[in-house]
Amino acid sequence: MSTLHAVMSRSDVRGLLIRHTGAHVTDDVISAWEVGLAGFSLAECHAALVSMGPAARRATPSEVVGRCEAARDRRTDSADTGHRPIPSARHNRTDYHQQAGLRGIHAVYAQMGWKRNAEHDLARAVPCPFCRAKAGAVCGPLTRNRAGRREARDPVHRMHPSRLERAQADSAGRGAPHHPVKETSR
Ligand SMILES: [Zn+2]
Repeated sequence: MSTLHAVMSRSDVRGLLIRHTGAHVTDDVISAWEVGLAGFSLAECHAALVSMGPAARRATPSEVVGRCEAARDRRTDSADTGHRPIPSARHNRTDYHQQAGLRGIHAVYAQMGWKRNAEHDLARAVPCPFCRAKAGAVCGPLTRNRAGRREARDPVHRMHPSRLERAQADSAGRGAPHHPVKETSR
């Protein structure tokens, strides 16, 4: 819990769940949370769960993410910095879990009775062309980028709309070469 933005290991996630939810923590449940909380640190998730009080026992990953994001937005507003760095050493590993996890994630969420935003998941799998959030990280609160373009995060899936468009284009042409900036008009 020393570094605020360190990525959680699987055993971090397990410990967090046992401590806060007391739920039956199966491998599938840990995987679901690991993917759901990717990009957030143990300290952030711990703080989010603590802030929920007794409701933490029934918390869903997206509720915890919502609280973590709100806390980051507050910090970003006060610090006036655009982005936090994601530790690159863990990045490939996170990618791996991201992809492995996303394959089975919807089944686990359905099984647990959790609501999950499919567009959020889809957008999160690619980097954001607008705010430059990396794959696996959530969009920052940026509303105007250096090119002067304006874009607000979607209130439902909480990502920049152009990121979702990119992800949708990517998943439509999976395996095709990556085009860094592709304007899609639908
Ligand atoms: Zn974004």
